[in-house]
Order: sequence, then C-alpha cells, then structure tokens
Amino acid sequence: MEIVAPFKEVIDEIKQYGGERVKYCYQCGKCDAVCPWNRVRVFSMRRLIRDAVFGLTEIEKEDIWRCTTCGRCVLLCPRDVRQIDDIVAIRRMATAYNVFPSSTKTYRQIATYLISKGNPFNEDPKERAKWAEGLNVKIFEEKMEVLYFTCCYMCYDPRLRNVARATVQLLQKAQVNFGILGEAESCCGESIRKTGNEEVFKKLAKENLKKFIDFGVRKIVVSSPHCYYTFKNEYPNFGANFEVVHISEYLKELIESKRLKLSRDYVANIAYHDPCYLGRHSNIFEKPREVLRSINGVNMLELPENRLASLCCGMGGGRVWAETEKHERFSNIRVEDAVKLGAMELVTSCPYCITALEDSKLIMGYEDKLRIKDLAELINEVT
Ligand code: SF4
Ligand code: SF4
Repeated sequence: MEIVAPFKEVIDEIKQYGGERVKYCYQCGKCDAVCPWNRVRVFSMRRLIRDAVFGLTEIEKEDIWRCTTCGRCVLLCPRDVRQIDDIVAIRRMATAYNVFPSSTKTYRQIATYLISKGNPFNEDPKERAKWAEGLNVKIFEEKMEVLYFTCCYMCYDPRLRNVARATVQLLQKAQVNFGILGEAESCCGESIRKTGNEEVFKKLAKENLKKFIDFGVRKIVVSSPHCYYTFKNEYPNFGANFEVVHISEYLKELIESKRLKLSRDYVANIAYHDPCYLGRHSNIFEKPREVLRSINGVNMLELPENRLASLCCGMGGGRVWAETEKHERFSNIRVEDAVKLGAMELVTSCPYCITALEDSKLIMGYEDKLRIKDLAELINEVT
C-alpha cells in the first residue's frame, strides 16, 4: 500500500470550505462506476476524495473542475460523503488562490461579467429583454399573478430566445397575468457558485432578492432547472420567501385546469431527457412526461438511462463555461441513444441541456435525423 504523509493545512482548508465529509470515504469506487466521465475518459472522484483526505489535492490540475455536479454518484455513496459539496469546497479553495487550469480560465472573466453586467456574456443589461420584442410582454407589477424569470441563456442566446418566446406565448394563451423584470433581471448565480465563487454568488443572490422584494414578487415561474434549484434550495438561506415553479410543472397545471388547451395532434416518436437539476436534484420526473403524454399522437420513448439514472448533458457545475473536447461530451452519448431508439425528437426542459444536445447533434451529423426541442416549444406548437 502507498504510504502518504498527510498535509494538515490543506486538510483543514478543505474542511473550512465545506468538504469535511471526505473523511467518511472508504474508497469503494461506486462513484467512479456511475460517473459519466468514465464513459469518455479516465476520471476518478474516488481518487479526488482520497487526495482530499490526505491534503494532497492538486488545485492546478483539470480534474477538480471536471465534475458536472450531476449528482449520480451522490445518490449511491454508501457513506454519504456528499461528493458535490466536497468538490465545490475544493474549488472554493482554488478560487481563493485564483488558480484555474486552461479549460476553466474563462471562469475568472465570467465572474467579472456577472458582477458588472449581471450576465455571463458581457452583454448590455439594457438588451436583456430584446427577446420579447413584439410580444407585448409587460414589466412585472405587484398585482400580477406570476413573475417569469427568464434566465441569462434564454435572454441572450439566439437559439434559446425561441424558448423564452414560446414560453411567454403559452402564458398569454393561458391568460396568465404575468410580467418579466426586463433589464432589472440578473443571473441567479447557481453555476458560478458551483465553480467555487461564493462571493459572486452571494452578491447576485442578495441583489436578486432585494429586487424580488421591491417588485412585490410572490410566485416565480422559471425555465431553467438551475434557477429553480437555487431559488428553491439556496435563496431561502438569504431570507427568500416566495413560491418557485418550474415551467414543466406549470404547464401541467395549466393543461389540467384547462387554461391551456392542446388543440393539435402531433404524431412523432419523442424521447425525453431528464435534466440533472430538474430530475435528480429536484425530483421532477413525471410532470414533463405527463405533459408530453397529453399530446395526441405522441409516442413516448424512454432513453436507456432515465429518471434517477439520467445521463448528464455535461453542462452543470459551471462546465457550461468550460472547454470540453468535442469527443468528450456526454451529450454525444445521449444524442446517439436517442437516434438508436428511433426518436425523431429529443425533448428536454433546460437551457444548458438544449445547448449541449444541439451541439452534439451537429458533432454527430444528425441534423436530418433528430430535432432537439424544449418542452415549451413543443407545447406552443400544439396549442
Ligand atoms: S462512493 Fe462514496 S465511499 Fe465510495 S469511493 Fe465514492 S465517495 Fe468514497
Ligand atoms: S456528480 Fe456526476 S460528474 Fe460529478 S463525480 Fe459524481 S457522477 Fe461524476
């Protein structure tokens, strides 16, 4: 057996940043067996945890940044080591020393954009509501039923703006009295937190909360499972007190209450991809499927890894901003699985997943074989 001398200062630092549970690991390797990285390259969370136990963590190497925080290993760990908390703790330590390897060099820049512009693209906040032009979308007022919190990706990314547009068209068809924050909206901060930048996350969370209070918000509908997760689980620690609903749940509610009528048939083989932060992290598995099943003509197919065992798209944990080699993208496997299954459409409900799956569709040369759609886009077509 390899003999190693523990580095106490590093062990203490990891503990101080929130990684105290590494000590419970007994190196069973169950995490490595389910980690999607091992489908595309060699990677060991077990090894990272072991290094942390002995204070041997190498913050200058790529590996501490690979975990997408998909949560698959966390569910299976027999010792409740909480690998996501541990890896984020290690990243907090690396962020404190300002050490980023080449694939994550962008994180520093993105943190400055989030502070100065409230979005990771360095885009003008005044352009934030440009996606809504011509749609007669109002700025939120206290008397309104719902705030639609759009998300940076839906606001600025040309592909995802279609999703935001479809979403507000659905809310209008259902006669929901809703508004947006427009240029007052800022990033929710979920992803930057997972890169270990607690300071920027806290700043964004506090500013967002202040705006929600000033605007008199009581109920928020979100498109991104990442906004959903942080509003629901992390913002309450800063005093948040509002209802958060993911669009997939809200669509189910609107269809059931007959506020939204599905008036067209849609004949297609459709596979549904569970986003990690909607499924595993938020336990919303059936509602999006029920919405899809309520469309006449849809033949629902299940991907080989679904629900709790869903395969991550690769974009969580801040990886949406990291460089991932084309042949190492998990979403390639997902797209391949969908095509093999005979799906004509791969539907999901997350801006990060849409981005990853669209890219993989191009990488794999499946432009003519498979369409990638957000649930809101599809429902908008049949209402
Ligand atoms: S599954 Fe848990 S106990 Fe097993 S190696 Fe991974 S972190 Fe350690
Ligand atoms: S959370 Fe997901 S990506 Fe991270 S180590 Fe566990 S299985 Fe791998």
